[in-house]
Amino acid sequence: VTVEEATRAALDAIRAKEKDINSFVTVDEESAMIRAKEVQKMIDDGTLTGPLAGVPVAIKDNMCTKGMLTTCSSKILYNFIPTYTAEAVINLEKAGAVILGKTNMDEFAMGSTTETSAYGETKNPWNTAHVPGGSSGGSCAAVAAEECYYALGSDTGGSIRQPSSFCGVTGIKPTYGTVSRYGLIAYGSSLDQIGPIAKDVTDCATILETITSYDKKDSTSVKREETDFTSALVDDVKGMKIGIPRDYLGEGLDPEVKEAILAAAKTLEEKGAIVEEFDLSLVEYAIPAYYVIAAAEASSNLARFDGVKYGYRTKEYEGLHNMYKKSRSEGFGPEVKRRIMLGSFVLSSGYYDAYYLKALRTKALIKQAFDKAFAKYDVILGPAAPTTAPKLGESLSDPLKMYLGDVYTVSVNLAGLPGISVPCGVDSKGLPIGLQLIGDCFKEKNIIRAAYSFE
Ligand code: GLN
Repeated sequence: VTVEEATRAALDAIRAKEKDINSFVTVDEESAMIRAKEVQKMIDDGTLTGPLAGVPVAIKDNMCTKGMLTTCSSKILYNFIPTYTAEAVINLEKAGAVILGKTNMDEFAMGSTTETSAYGETKNPWNTAHVPGGSSGGSCAAVAAEECYYALGSDTGGSIRQPSSFCGVTGIKPTYGTVSRYGLIAYGSSLDQIGPIAKDVTDCATILETITSYDKKDSTSVKREETDFTSALVDDVKGMKIGIPRDYLGEGLDPEVKEAILAAAKTLEEKGAIVEEFDLSLVEYAIPAYYVIAAAEASSNLARFDGVKYGYRTKEYEGLHNMYKKSRSEGFGPEVKRRIMLGSFVLSSGYYDAYYLKALRTKALIKQAFDKAFAKYDVILGPAAPTTAPKLGESLSDPLKMYLGDVYTVSVNLAGLPGISVPCGVDSKGLPIGLQLIGDCFKEKNIIRAAYSFE
């Protein structure tokens, strides 16, 4: 197929499915077709080669794209057209990607269902009565519904892995510092990472290899030594040591999810891996520590949206302070406001030591617990989420319950580790289940190799 044919096919799929799924905030047919023509020309004259040349992609709407609306699924950025492109997206463009548009998400990536978007919820392509997960729900639903060949997501506390699991696709959250955050609109800067979402491990490894780069525009960017992630796509787990945290199989885990996870562990064992259960300590502290740190950073990062420089400004106001207040009150949704209030509270004098500092100490201890585990194991195995995709509407009424659903993913971000979610079956309702594999820092290849067993 030509690049134009592939792009046309994706755009046709989007036209046919969007009214049911709503994966996209913005679809730019015209630029996509112009770009497709240009890329085809470069392929024809031999100036562009490689596995991603001419492949249409969807980008989560919290990554800046020059000249293309970037909303973070928030009313406050309803008209924001960036003047520059995120580094990860530039890396894809260099490899010949054709950008179809921007995908829906929880507002500012705060949420686990894609229901907090100001532009309507995304629905799960497997069953449209259910959520796709979040916050990268639009990207995962778009891949699952075959509206694009792959997508980029971001993961602060599970936002690539959890929706990948709910939508039956594969997603990788890389080691912190691997993919540049330049041009990613910040949520929790010490936790945020961009990563690939695609139909399988092979595609994800290829995309990750392409978006990985050292970038001096991101002060936390790391110069990685080994970035040949695709070299780990080998069907061989002989002698690999895999640990399953007992706490990841306990209370709150849906029995059908548990069964699928243990069956996946068995498969790895049959292929020659050494699998055992162990006690990863501090699991119960991950959620509170994460929600304190993420909210604290968010409250600071979101201070820039004030109606002055860009985005939404209230229509009527009396003086500057009233303009700030009304613009923010009208521009942010309820979940974002909840996080700003929580974050401002834990950072305020008198409470800083009791909450924020304590959360940072907990984060350090969680990292130590993982260090201890990785002295023994190559990979940690468990579920990506305690259940399959809930029904639409269920989580909005009970945010605390929604937060608890992040129990298996947030500690990976607190410790800066790489994690992957791969499909490992469906439950009796026909909804996909995701297996999570966690690696030590910079050991993406271990989780890619283990995940490849299921391809
Ligand atoms: N559900 C988590 C939260 O709301 C994680 C979101 C994310 O990774 N962006 O913070």
